[in-house]
Amino acid sequence: MAWDFSTEPEFQEKLDWIAAFVKEHVEPVDLAFDSHTVYDKTHPVHEEVIRPLQKMVQDQGLWACHLGPDLGGLGFGQLKLGLINEILGRSTWAPSTFGCQAPDTGNAEIIAHYGTDEQKAKYLKPLLDGEIVSCFSMTEPQGGADPGVFTCRAEQDGDEWVINGEKWFSSNLKYSAFAIVMAVTDPNVSIYQGASMFLVPTDTPGINIVRNTGIGGEEPDEGSHAYVRYENVRVPAENVLGGPGQAFVIAQTRLGGGRIHHAMRTIGMCQKAIDMMCERALSRHTQGSPLASKQMVQEYVADSWIELHQFRLMVLHAAWLIDQVGGHKARKEIAACKVATAKILKDIVFRAMHVHGSLGVSNEMPLIGMWTMAPVMGIADGPTEVHKITVARQVLKGYKPYEGLWPTAHLPERVAAAKARFAHVVDHNLANHNL
Ligand SMILES: Cc1cc2nc3c(=O)[nH]c(=O)nc-3n(C[C@H](O)[C@H](O)[C@H](O)COP(=O)(O)OP(=O)(O)OC[C@H]3O[C@@H](n4cnc5c(N)ncnc54)[C@H](O)[C@@H]3O)c2cc1C
Repeated sequence: MAWDFSTEPEFQEKLDWIAAFVKEHVEPVDLAFDSHTVYDKTHPVHEEVIRPLQKMVQDQGLWACHLGPDLGGLGFGQLKLGLINEILGRSTWAPSTFGCQAPDTGNAEIIAHYGTDEQKAKYLKPLLDGEIVSCFSMTEPQGGADPGVFTCRAEQDGDEWVINGEKWFSSNLKYSAFAIVMAVTDPNVSIYQGASMFLVPTDTPGINIVRNTGIGGEEPDEGSHAYVRYENVRVPAENVLGGPGQAFVIAQTRLGGGRIHHAMRTIGMCQKAIDMMCERALSRHTQGSPLASKQMVQEYVADSWIELHQFRLMVLHAAWLIDQVGGHKARKEIAACKVATAKILKDIVFRAMHVHGSLGVSNEMPLIGMWTMAPVMGIADGPTEVHKITVARQVLKGYKPYEGLWPTAHLPERVAAAKARFAHVVDHNLANHNL
C-alpha cells in the first residue's frame, strides 16, 4: 500500500523556511518594484536586493530546484517542486529569487536536453546562474493554437541560416539575451516534421520589435510581449537546437513542464485569495453581523476551499505521475491541470473580490491583478479548448465502439443473461416488479 499524503519532516523544514523567507524578504519586493522588472537584469534591484536573497536561497541548497543534479540542481522531482512552487506562487518575484522563473526554466530544460556542449556553455550556464533572461518565440500573429499556419521561415545559406517572419507574444524579448525561435525549414513536409528551433542572440541584426504588447491595463507599447519581425536574421548553422526538423519534439518537452509549473504556482495564488476572502469575511459587518455569518458568503468560502483542495490533489498527483513515468506519459493529467488552472483562478479570485466589494475591484488590493491572470492562464501555453481535446482523446483511447445496434450497457439483453445465470435463486416475480 504506497498511497501516502505525508511530507517528510526534513523536507517540511525546507518548506517552512521557504514560506517564512518569501513572506519576510520577497513579498516586500513585489510591493516596491514593477513586475516587469523581474526580467530587466539591468535594473539595480537585481544586484542590490535580489542577488543577496538568491545567495540565501543557494546557501539553503534550494537554488534552481527544478533541475536535476547533472545541471546543478537538487533533482527534487516534480512532486517536491509542486510543494515549493505553491509557496512561490504567492509572490511575483519569488520564482526568480529561487532560480526557477518561467519561461527561462523551460528554455533551460530544452537546451539541457538537446543542446551541444558549446550551446550549453554559451546559453545555458548564464541562464542557470540567473545572469540573463531568455525568450521563447513560437506563436505567430495569424495563429498560435494551430501551428499549421506558422510561416516564419529559415533558409540555409552556406554556413548560416537566414530567418524571416513574424512572431507575436514573444514574452520578455526586450530583456532577453537570446531567443529560441521556431521556424519552418522544410515547407514540403508537415510542419511537425519541417520546423526547427534556433538559438538567436538578441543583438543579431534584423530583430525588429514592432511593439511590446501589454496585457490588462498596461500602456500601449509598455508591455513585455513582443510583436517582432525577423528580417534576414542570420545565425550560424550550429545554432540549430537539436537538429533540423526537431522543433515540435523539443516544444513538447518544454511545454509540459511549463504547464504543470503554472498550475503549481496557481495553487499559491488561489490560497492567497482565500486568505484575503476569509479575513475580510470575518472583519466586515453588514446588517448587524459579519459577512462570515451570511450563508452565501459561507458558500463562497466552502466552495473555494473544496475546489482548491481538489485542484491541489490533482496537480500534486500529476506531478507525482511525471516523477514515476515521465511527462510524455502524463499528458492527460497535465492537460487536465492546465484546463483546471484558469477556471479555479477565475472562480476563487472572483469570489474574493466580491466579498471585498468596491475595495476588491480597486487598485488598492492585489485581487484585480490576480484576476487578469485568470484569462491569461486559459490561453498562454495553449487555449483551454485545445487541452480539453487532449484530455478527451486520451480518455477515449480507453474505450472501443460496440458492435451491433445496442450499447453494451443496454438493459434487456444484460438482464436476460443475468437472470439466466441466477435462475436457480432469483425470485422472478420480485425481480420483474423491480425492473
Ligand atoms: C501572457 C501570454 C504570454 C505568452 N507568451 C508567449 C511566448 O513567450 N512565446 C510564444 O511563442 N507564445 C506566447 N504566448 C502565446 C500563446 O501560446 C498563444 O496565445 C496560444 O497558443 C493561443 O494562440 P492565439 O493567441 O493565436 O489564439 P488562437 O489560436 O487564435 O485561438 C483563439 C481561441 O480560439 C479557440 N480555439 C483555438 N483552437 C481551438 C480548437 N482546436 N478547438 C476549439 N477552440 C479553439 C480558443 O477559444 C482560443 O482561445 C503567450 C500568450 C499569453 C497570453
